[in-house]
Amino acid sequence: MNDLPDVNVLRDQLTGPLFLPGDPGYDDECATFNLNTPLAPAIAVGAATPDDVRNAVRFAAINGLAVAVRGGGHLQPRSGVGQLLLTLDRMNSVRIDPVRATARITGTPRWSQVTSAASEHGLAAMNGSSPTVGAIGYLLGGGMSPVLGRPFGYASDHILSIDVVTADGELRQVTGTSDPDLFFALRGSKGNLGVVTAVDLALQPVRTVYGGGLWFAGERLAEILPVWRDFAAALPDAATTSIAVQRLPAAPELPEPLRAAFVLHVRYAYVGPAAEGERLLAPMRVLGPVVLDTITDLPYADSGTIHHDPDLPLPYFDRSLGLRELSDGTLAALVELTGPGSDCPLVSAEIRALGGALDRPPAAPDAVPSRGLPFQFFAFGVGGPDEAQLMQGYLARCVDVLSPWAFPRRMVNFVSPEEALTPRSLREVYGAELYDRIVAVKEKYDPDNVFRNNHNIVRA
Ligand SMILES: Cc1cc2nc3c(=O)[nH]c(=O)nc-3n(C[C@H](O)[C@H](O)[C@H](O)COP(=O)(O)OP(=O)(O)OC[C@H]3O[C@@H](n4cnc5c(N)ncnc54)[C@H](O)[C@@H]3O)c2cc1C
Repeated sequence: MNDLPDVNVLRDQLTGPLFLPGDPGYDDECATFNLNTPLAPAIAVGAATPDDVRNAVRFAAINGLAVAVRGGGHLQPRSGVGQLLLTLDRMNSVRIDPVRATARITGTPRWSQVTSAASEHGLAAMNGSSPTVGAIGYLLGGGMSPVLGRPFGYASDHILSIDVVTADGELRQVTGTSDPDLFFALRGSKGNLGVVTAVDLALQPVRTVYGGGLWFAGERLAEILPVWRDFAAALPDAATTSIAVQRLPAAPELPEPLRAAFVLHVRYAYVGPAAEGERLLAPMRVLGPVVLDTITDLPYADSGTIHHDPDLPLPYFDRSLGLRELSDGTLAALVELTGPGSDCPLVSAEIRALGGALDRPPAAPDAVPSRGLPFQFFAFGVGGPDEAQLMQGYLARCVDVLSPWAFPRRMVNFVSPEEALTPRSLREVYGAELYDRIVAVKEKYDPDNVFRNNHNIVRA
């Protein structure tokens, strides 16, 4: 700690608390959702106001410290050692304007908080599959909603303005007219350009969704995959589906038939009348006996139950890959990797069918690189450092075997910690042209790379 500047200078400027390693509260402040990616900064600041964020960023810049930000803690590729960590939970609020159909989101609330506030007014936010993901971390990475993405596009496309503290300590309210380059790059580059303290987001007039999951016995993978592919291809933009091969734990929080089960989970969501949603689902329902069927007319606030993602922090390893097609060869490779005859140790390996409005350009251009991506593969295995070799090895094998069908660009929110570490691999995620455009904005607003505890976008 002797190398640290005098933190009392900063402490005196803050409304929120400041923690040093060993202080009571430090561990809670640094806690992440993925227990395999812990944070261990030199200083942790629990900002309570935008001025706290400005003062902390200025203090860090003056003293040559990098600034890390933790939202929902689902995707921290680096540990923040020696850095100043900012958390914004003490600023969390969601204010809905029912007339304009917008939400003002401050701090870093989780999606559950945003969707429940919006639903009270018959409105829906562009949330992802998991209610525990941080709304801001997700929005800055594009944000692919498995309910509203195909009907309405990427979540980033619906951002109206962003309040961000840049590396010079200035709080800027950024819109497409005030700062077009910053507005463009912020929506897709995650936290590379500053600390976002608030976002204004357009909402959708959606009260209910017909959706849920059908779970089939995992042994039927080879039979069901091609049927699901054809079913997905025939759906209108208002309907969305994904399929996951799951080897579930014997967890008491799972419904009884899913405990310790090997299953195929077909997820489905239709934004429209339940009767039409049910009619469209017929090709999957006729497949016969299911282990569990939860598909029903849901209030939008319950749309987070469709994927049934884990809701408590756990240690996991993950990888993803964009797929340009699901040919018979792709499906055969999936069966070989994850089917009943495999030695797959992963809890889940899923394919999301994309398309629809996710392929259409937004009203104001943004830095989302995955437009045009037809399918997304995402897999994860649960286990701590002792299982790292097994899980990371198997995940790497999945990506390797599926690489003949890879799409050139990727979805930023699903780039795994280990893939986020080199500019060269990130340039592939974005594609050279978009990456270099973001680098130009980064060099203008953060020339000293103060915000580098992320998937860091610097000259490759
Ligand atoms: C179970 C699960 C399901 C998921 N489902 C989806 C899905 O359906 N669709 C989808 O698009 N993604 C999905 N994701 C990915 C998720 O959107 C990303 O992991 C997202 O970045 C997580 O944000 P966070 O705030 O929870 O995580 P954090 O680790 O806290 O933050 C992630 C990154 O964003 C930065 N950041 C966070 N808040 C701020 C801020 N206020 N200012 C500046 N930078 C900030 C952080 O510094 C970090 O670099 C899922 C992830 C998991 C684990």
